[in-house]
Amino acid sequence: MQAGIFGAEPWSDNMRNEIEKGLGITAIDIYGLSEIIGPGVSSECACKAGLHIFEDHFIPEIIDPVTEKVLPPGEKGELVFTTITKEGIPMIRYRTRDISSLNYEKCACGRTAVRMSRLSGRSDDMLIIRGVNVFPSQIESVLLEFGETAPHYQLIVDRVGNLDSLEVWVEMTQTMFSDEVKKIEEIEQKIKAEIDFTLGLGAKVKLVEPKTIERSEGKAKRVLDKRSL
Ligand SMILES: [Zn+2]
Repeated sequence: MQAGIFGAEPWSDNMRNEIEKGLGITAIDIYGLSEIIGPGVSSECACKAGLHIFEDHFIPEIIDPVTEKVLPPGEKGELVFTTITKEGIPMIRYRTRDISSLNYEKCACGRTAVRMSRLSGRSDDMLIIRGVNVFPSQIESVLLEFGETAPHYQLIVDRVGNLDSLEVWVEMTQTMFSDEVKKIEEIEQKIKAEIDFTLGLGAKVKLVEPKTIERSEGKAKRVLDKRSL
């Protein structure tokens, strides 16, 4: 079996399936950042159940990006690294802005090096809606898993009275658009149920016509936050 190592951008398991099917290889996730060493801070093993961090070189921690408190193993937060062997520019508790969690259990491959979960976003992308931490990537993965809509969406956050509201606009595919209204409403309800369950808060879902959500070069402008705080 041939393997390919893919890094530099967060990618989903759906993307992994596409790559593996298309190229007939095993697709492995690697993670790194130039402030620490570049690629090679951590990598998946053949089990693909988290990325083993090279703990003989780097000490990882997960913190709450708002309170900066260290979080226990398994909890999601911002990844922080301290370098042990780096010379010249050592880093002490460097905040990566990347969101992950740590798993200290022994891996099925036999390695005991701590595993970080695949990145689920950036702390600077994090929204706090009604006290709940929300990452646009959570909504993206719901839509990718659902698979019936186009992969384009926009989040509209507002404050009505004293309560935050979240609206998710999702673009329909051309085929969906020609469906009956009843069927479209059914899909809307299904997506809403899935998003509510994933985020732990109620969102309003609206399916919009094909090609109505703005495309942007590079980092997509997914969030419109209208709250004035
Ligand atoms: Zn392993």
